[in-house]
Amino acid sequence: MRRIVVQKFGGTSVADTGKIKNVAKTVIHEKNNGNDVVVVVSAMGHTTDYLVKMAKDLSATPSEREMDMLLSTGEGVSIALLAMAIQAQGYDAVSFNAMQVGIFTENVHSKARILKIETEKLRKNLNEGKIVIVAGFQGVTADGEITTLGRGGSDTSAVAIAAALNAERCDIYTDVEGVYTTDPRVVPTASKLKSISYEEMLELAHAGANVLHPRSVETAKLNNVPLRVRSSFKIDDMGTLILGVDKMEIDRPVTGVAADLSQTRIVVLDVPDTPGQAAKIFSTLAKENISVDMIIQSYAKKETNTNDIAFTIDTSDKGKTLTTLDKLKSEIGCRDILANSEIAKVSIIGAGMIDRPGIASGMFETLSNLGINIKMISTSEIKISCLVDKADANKAVKALHEEFDLGSDVVADVKGDLPNV
Ligand code: ASP
Ligand code: MG
Repeated sequence: MRRIVVQKFGGTSVADTGKIKNVAKTVIHEKNNGNDVVVVVSAMGHTTDYLVKMAKDLSATPSEREMDMLLSTGEGVSIALLAMAIQAQGYDAVSFNAMQVGIFTENVHSKARILKIETEKLRKNLNEGKIVIVAGFQGVTADGEITTLGRGGSDTSAVAIAAALNAERCDIYTDVEGVYTTDPRVVPTASKLKSISYEEMLELAHAGANVLHPRSVETAKLNNVPLRVRSSFKIDDMGTLILGVDKMEIDRPVTGVAADLSQTRIVVLDVPDTPGQAAKIFSTLAKENISVDMIIQSYAKKETNTNDIAFTIDTSDKGKTLTTLDKLKSEIGCRDILANSEIAKVSIIGAGMIDRPGIASGMFETLSNLGINIKMISTSEIKISCLVDKADANKAVKALHEEFDLGSDVVADVKGDLPNV
């Protein structure tokens, strides 16, 4: 049986017709390797931003249905142009939107999840020898309504298609050469990872590394799709391979460092120390679709019999959070609610830190040596995050990158041979 490779190209890779020609070459190169190729593309350049701006010029609260109708048009342009560019090179290609393929999603606008992908049309066209091009980011409901998957969602379209077709791998082509130990713009000695596990990549994505749409990594993990992040401008560079942690040979405790500068800390002061208060606060926020990241409840103060509850949210949810909590204030009986956006969450990530003591203390000491105050701490099995002043974020990232020796070459490697890389 022929192998299927899914390739995804982001907006910068298809920003103009010259770049689209370049993408056509990369696609044809893969086809000439003897693989069946499905290509998923985003809208050209900043098209989606531009469409959003036009909508906001006309309405402060455009309807979500019409937003999806509007935003889904961006990908419609790039798929047809890419098909033409490939045909002009003498290869057979055909483009489809999500409705034509049958990329079914939930009935939710602006951030729908994919439920099912029909493979019949895709397979039929591949079997006829065609290169198949599919619009990313969009879906359709069972009732024939157009949906979108959320900004950056084309990565998820590509991985979901790869999973549905049982593809050999999914290559995400982008304007960076792979996944780095940290942001190379902040730390010039950052090194490119040869491989990283889904688990680490998910933590990195949530910690502020904007390489991949987090849901695409979740989908890849769930379906065991090998994912590659690679450069659209360096055809022979294999980039970074993302795969299961069980397939990795991990010899270092820390794989990456990231900073999230878009968090806001909320503190609810003097919450009466009675059962049900945290439940009230966080269930109300959840109902408003506000996700909360770090949470700390202080030790109860004897004199007042109250606690302080502090947590972080994405800064884009700050307005909504404050209005929601304000309504709850008298019901909780707290003294005040504070918000601070001049903070950053700095995280170290590594599957190798499991069962290895001293990693957290190494992080705290590094920050302490720089005189950086830690405002909150949270941990998972493979991540330690500290909340610090925003002004200290880059300094912290640099020092942690050095502390955990991430400037040298390969950080984690793969056990044995890899499938078709
Ligand atoms: N075009 C959409 C966006 O700009 C989807 C994507 O690029 O992945 O968010
Ligand atoms: Mg993107």
